[in-house]
Amino acid sequence: MKPLDSFTIPVKGLGNGIHNFEFELDAPFFRAINEESKLDATLISKVSFDKRDSMYILDIIVEGEHIADCDRCLNEIPVPVAGEYKLYIKRGIGEDEAEIVYLEQFDDQINIAKYIYDFAILSLPFKNVIEGCEEMEKPPCNFEMLKKWEENSVADDKDEEEKGNMWDQLSNLKFE
Ligand SMILES: [Zn+2]
Repeated sequence: MKPLDSFTIPVKGLGNGIHNFEFELDAPFFRAINEESKLDATLISKVSFDKRDSMYILDIIVEGEHIADCDRCLNEIPVPVAGEYKLYIKRGIGEDEAEIVYLEQFDDQINIAKYIYDFAILSLPFKNVIEGCEEMEKPPCNFEMLKKWEENSVADDKDEEEKGNMWDQLSNLKFE
């Protein structure tokens, strides 16, 4: 079985109404769609698939985590991933939008792997940090690094302040 075969929904055999599916999205899944993908993810996608005569309505949940280098301490950390989406797959001709896809005809089955892939990528947070990791029992962060990072950013603030004072003093000089 190819890695994406399990994303095929046998719509012909389904009655109209809602059907629930669950998919595992792991590194081989992401590579099967995008060869270059280095995503080290363990995600679950729950799909509620509403079959109607000329339209499928999908409620898609993506949740789990991916392993990435922490933006603050550079340790490898599990970054939480979560997202919730709606997708309308309509029969007909039209221009696709973020939530709407048009298919000229409905086949006996539909593979939804590429849609799930897009939503999973959309769910990745912009920042690779764990909020509140300092309070965790076994924090994955490197606190030595975090401390240095914090000291540096405080030092930067100080520099800015000193510059600010200098300008204040300069502007107090009167050129008469
Ligand atoms: Zn960290």
